[in-house]
Amino acid sequence: MPVSLEVQGIDAVYGHFPALTDVSLSVATGETLAVIGANGAGKSTLLRAVVGQVSATGSVVLDGTRIDGLRPHERVRRGVSLVPEGRRLFPSLSVRENLRIGAVRPGPWTVDAVHDLFPDLAALRDRPAGALSGGEQQAVAIGRGLMANPSVLLLDEVSLGLAPVVVERLYAALAQIGAAGMTMLVVEQDVGQALRIAARVHCLRAGRTVLTGASADVTPEAVTAAYFGAA
Ligand code: ATP
Repeated sequence: MPVSLEVQGIDAVYGHFPALTDVSLSVATGETLAVIGANGAGKSTLLRAVVGQVSATGSVVLDGTRIDGLRPHERVRRGVSLVPEGRRLFPSLSVRENLRIGAVRPGPWTVDAVHDLFPDLAALRDRPAGALSGGEQQAVAIGRGLMANPSVLLLDEVSLGLAPVVVERLYAALAQIGAAGMTMLVVEQDVGQALRIAARVHCLRAGRTVLTGASADVTPEAVTAAYFGAA
């Protein structure tokens, strides 16, 4: 199976605080990998290191080419796109404008394709993004990430602050994206949702890898132990 993203020996520090220590993972083409772990485990830092928003040492290889020396916007152009925690839309710009901001590479993901995935957004296309509900804003953020037509889509805490029924719908859309062949690296505290769409999981605790494996083999007990460091 070809590998789309390979991260090796990543270290990241905030001042003297080691946020990530020697983290390595790879995501096969077409695969969804979930990164799980408790608050502060380093999940967001890992995604931000991949896209170049935090400085880190170690290598990041995308489709066979090292990108860790590149600036964030150059990495996006190479094909890695982040749907950030907290959505980070431009609230006064319209939904359509927010989506178009993501369009840095040509490909199958267009505004129309995003409307097909999230039909509710079509009617909201001229509304300021800030006027939308949290779930609608998250759909726009996912759409904007897709508009970059990435090789690998990174998603940080899609479920954050949203009602279970909304999370369910967003994850159904992510499952659809995955079934269409998108390679994804998903950070999620809602382990149940993450395991539903990810073939494999990678668990971090205090910035280190403590568990990796196929989702089907990962028991709730193993996850609890990996999260909290129990026996
Ligand atoms: P969360 O679910 O809370 O976002 P996380 O697993 O994504 O958790 P990170 O956000 O990557 O964790 O944070 C890892 C550690 O680094 C935490 O202890 C956090 O407090 C610290 N940290 C994160 N960002 C910074 C920063 N800009 N400056 C200093 N410390 C930071």
